[in-house]
Amino acid sequence: MRRFQVYDSLSRSLRLFVPITPPRVGMFVCGLTPYAESHIGHGRTFVSFDVVARALRRWGYRLFYVQNVTNLDDKVIARAAEEGADPLALAERHFQGYLASMAELGVRSVNLYPFATDYIPEILAQMRSLVDRGSAYAAGGSVYYSVAKFPSYGALSGQRREEQLAGTRVAPEPLKRAPEDFAIWKAATPGEPSWESAWGPGRPGWHIEDTAITGRLLGARYDLHGGGMELKFPHHEGEIAISEAATGESPLVNYWMHAGLLNMKGEKMAKSLGNVVRLDRTIERFGGDVLRFYYLNAHYRSPLDFEEGKSLEEAREAYDRLIAPYRRLLRALGRGGATGRSLPAELARSAADLPERLDATLADDFNAREAVAQLFTWGRRVGSLGDDLEEYSETALTELAAPYRWASEVLGLGEAEEGNSPRLDLGPAIEAAIAARTRARGRGDFAESDRIRDELRAAGIELEDAGGGRTRWRPARSDP
Ligand SMILES: [Zn+2]
Repeated sequence: MRRFQVYDSLSRSLRLFVPITPPRVGMFVCGLTPYAESHIGHGRTFVSFDVVARALRRWGYRLFYVQNVTNLDDKVIARAAEEGADPLALAERHFQGYLASMAELGVRSVNLYPFATDYIPEILAQMRSLVDRGSAYAAGGSVYYSVAKFPSYGALSGQRREEQLAGTRVAPEPLKRAPEDFAIWKAATPGEPSWESAWGPGRPGWHIEDTAITGRLLGARYDLHGGGMELKFPHHEGEIAISEAATGESPLVNYWMHAGLLNMKGEKMAKSLGNVVRLDRTIERFGGDVLRFYYLNAHYRSPLDFEEGKSLEEAREAYDRLIAPYRRLLRALGRGGATGRSLPAELARSAADLPERLDATLADDFNAREAVAQLFTWGRRVGSLGDDLEEYSETALTELAAPYRWASEVLGLGEAEEGNSPRLDLGPAIEAAIAARTRARGRGDFAESDRIRDELRAAGIELEDAGGGRTRWRPARSDP
């Protein structure tokens, strides 16, 4: 396992990464709240953590990467009401759109996309524990977390109590004992999805949806938690407070990673601000590769200032420049000349060393931008060999391509050039097969249902039967 250091947002320092149970690593990244189409700010966060996941696997860690789906919360309910749609169906639809965009962006490192509403028993168990320990109280059919009972609340975001209150723009909730308390269970409202509980029918609050999932899938303590910078407060503070109080174990997370915001004219891109650029349309126009390159050509923690009509035009040009030598190498390799010139010794040595140097660069807090800069430099060296790469032997060409193979594996840049692009949208075909399997099970034909499952598995698709008779699919796990 390669050693690496990572900037931990809680201690505000670069720290050497040590897993709780090596070589296993549990990673959780706050996923989508699929109430509308995803925007390019989302893409940035999830590409950043895709690189983290790819690197960890390359470096010998056995990573289990969970990205939740907040398929029910206030925003989902409000949007569904506007559209006259069922909230859970609306969330499912936007999540499928999101998955299609992720496929285009080359994001396939996530092991599991758990939906919040599939974890109601775990949510209720955490609530029970919190109420029993005095960290939460019921009022009017809702259950609130008592922030005063958790002295380190605010440590991650560094917010003082006054700032925390100023940052909470919510309707007054007269039943709360203190204004900073937050709902972990919201009393049922007619027309909204709800579940039975010891405190009356209702639905879970946002933060506890995540801690129930991580408690179940990753345990009371796990290695890495990622998300966008804007989630530090109140969401991640809430997660820490809930989980540590409910389980009595701390810290919930050993390393907190936060990806920088994508800004437009200095403002965070957010649906609430009305300045969003849709992810699917951007991919359609520029391609997933170019957008992925745009994200990775900046440090993941830095804010990224997006200028419409300029940023991605520039990125397209730069990406072409980055990848052009690789295209030439692949073309020359495709011609399969068995004989030919070998590389000058010094160049062959550089080619052999570069992947190691690229790994070392990434092992310094995932500095993809610096790795990209090294690849540009390498491209110039390949270019200095002249136009006739066909003169070189297959061995020489393979040596020259090694840094690009690294880029494809770890950064996911140049994957599409290799001709075995996994970016086909298989979604509709898989959904159709799942529907056929559900029908087969409905009529008791389990032989047929198993046959469909096996057929999908052979094609690299795992099915997962979730609550409510629903089935989800995901690419089969790629780690050993
Ligand atoms: Zn979250």
